Amino acid sequence: MGGVIMRLLKHYIKSFLFLELIKGAMITGRYLFAKKITVQYPEEKTPMSPRFRGLHAQRRYANGEERCIACKLCEAVCPALAITIDVTERDDGTRRTSRYDIDLFKCIYCGFCEEACPVDAIVETHIFEYHFENRGENIMTKDKLLAVGDKYEEQIAACKAADAKYR
Ligand code: SF4
Ligand code: SF4
Repeated sequence: MGGVIMRLLKHYIKSFLFLELIKGAMITGRYLFAKKITVQYPEEKTPMSPRFRGLHAQRRYANGEERCIACKLCEAVCPALAITIDVTERDDGTRRTSRYDIDLFKCIYCGFCEEACPVDAIVETHIFEYHFENRGENIMTKDKLLAVGDKYEEQIAACKAADAKYR
């Protein structure tokens, strides 16, 4: 009984002195003068890890030859079944893809395809600002992937180099 009365008494004293209100105002005041951490996106961007997993790309070697050897490891490892590959054999006996599609609606950006690739052909870039306006644009075809790779090769190579010592 005595405990209940004490609790009630404390509650009334706290309410009477506006202690919670003062505590709240003190927190507001502290953040009012603290260093601001808000980023003015899209003008300002936060730093990104070399391992960031954004839009996919296919890479080429310096001589222009595509890296992908159609081993299908990425297709096999993809947990979302987002990759579809058809394979063809060249006259010299080398394997290349005749079709390489990634369905971005299925992709969960896990990065397994990039991890599995023995020749660093399929990679995930720093591009995260993209959208689709028409049906079917969610399919990244081989040509689209190679075009992204050609455009951003410098950035992709720099990220690979920065991350190399941790692999
Ligand atoms: S990032 Fe993951 S889900 Fe997306 S295509 Fe690669 S393996 Fe599949
Ligand atoms: S992207 Fe890499 S893992 Fe996928 S088929 Fe080509 S070489 Fe193999």
